[in-house]
Amino acid sequence: MKIQCIGAGPAGLVFSILAKMQDHSRDVVVYERNLSNVTTGWGLVLSEPMLQQLANIDPSIVEQLRPHISTLNHIDIHIKEKTFRSSGYQFLAISRLEMINTLRKKALDLGIKINYDSSLNAEDLINFPADLTVISDGANSKIRHQLKNEFDTDIDEGKNLYLWLGTSHLFNDTFNFIFEQTETGWFWAHCYKFENDHSTFVVECTHETWAKTGFAHMDEKQTIAFLEKVFHRHLCGHPLQINDTCREKAYWRRFVTPVSKHWSHDKKVLLGNAAHSAHFSIGSGTKLAIGDAIALAENLKSSNKLDSACFTDYQHNRQNESSNLHIAAQNSQSWFENVESLIENDPLEFSISLLLRSGRLSRDELTINLL
Ligand SMILES: Cc1cc2nc3c(=O)[nH]c(=O)nc-3n(C[C@H](O)[C@H](O)[C@H](O)COP(=O)(O)OP(=O)(O)OC[C@H]3O[C@@H](n4cnc5c(N)ncnc54)[C@H](O)[C@@H]3O)c2cc1C
Repeated sequence: MKIQCIGAGPAGLVFSILAKMQDHSRDVVVYERNLSNVTTGWGLVLSEPMLQQLANIDPSIVEQLRPHISTLNHIDIHIKEKTFRSSGYQFLAISRLEMINTLRKKALDLGIKINYDSSLNAEDLINFPADLTVISDGANSKIRHQLKNEFDTDIDEGKNLYLWLGTSHLFNDTFNFIFEQTETGWFWAHCYKFENDHSTFVVECTHETWAKTGFAHMDEKQTIAFLEKVFHRHLCGHPLQINDTCREKAYWRRFVTPVSKHWSHDKKVLLGNAAHSAHFSIGSGTKLAIGDAIALAENLKSSNKLDSACFTDYQHNRQNESSNLHIAAQNSQSWFENVESLIENDPLEFSISLLLRSGRLSRDELTINLL
């Protein structure tokens, strides 16, 4: 059986590993548009249950990841010159590149062929026939877009703009939300340390603020200089950095939520963010992608043939299992899209509302103090 995955992100790599582990005689090939040893973005927040899912595949994956994981025990909210701290969390953070490289090594050890520098489109699939083609090329999937009639896809674009930056400033064991007001509106950053010498720094603002500030007429250097000024009190002299190692430009984006009526067509199936996504503010998109990969591999194992029933079953299972996550992600995304109206509230009330935004935590479960 020949299986090909388009996209070597967490979804494509985990699925290819599982498909090969189930049957070593399978010919499993992955195509990735980027070069090896690069990836988009900076750090990721993850959870113990997600690590357990990876350990169930192969404990050595988690053994290799552990030394690179930081723990975040608090959430600090910096607003109007005050800092509120909420404690009792145990988020984990890791470099996205570290995770991808560990999965890549496992895939190569199993004999999976990964073709880097290979950006495929729907037409290429005609020349590369396979028993199963897994479309795992992310939320902006070009192939899904080219086959949108087959998958019946609608795209929801978030109202806000975000920029996924990094910094050498280290935020210790705390996840931070920093809100700063400028003449053109509010900017906020979601930031945390994910490795010894780097923190993730995702900047977000409304479209109105983005347009008023004039980012459309600024180059990358001017944009970075502007944002360093906005957040200077929190960066302690450290620069902001763009990850420009990838083919796709790391610049201002709107968050993309694809909704496809059909996750499969013929022998092609959507996986991970190509099928569905969860807003970055709840830090669960990778969990979603890995969960999809595990579910599709399970269906492949238990089904004797690769027919539409096998794929439909996978789609329904994953849609059911992730429905609560999608509600939480949507709540969180909407909250950030309404920041400008909420921010007039008392800073403590605002911070509580931020912590409760996804609907997964109740007020009774929350501790919050002014630092
Ligand atoms: C700002 C931001 C912060 C985030 N923070 C977190 C977090 O803290 N925790 C978390 O769990 N998730 C987070 N996420 C989400 C997470 O990054 C994704 O959900 C996850 O990477 C999805 O995995 P995937 O494999 O489906 O897609 P991707 O990781 O997007 O991988 C797709 C791969 O396909 C490749 N590709 C694309 N087009 C082609 C093509 N035509 N041919 C060949 N290859 C192609 C891409 O280069 C890429 O390597 C964040 C996302 C954003 C935007």
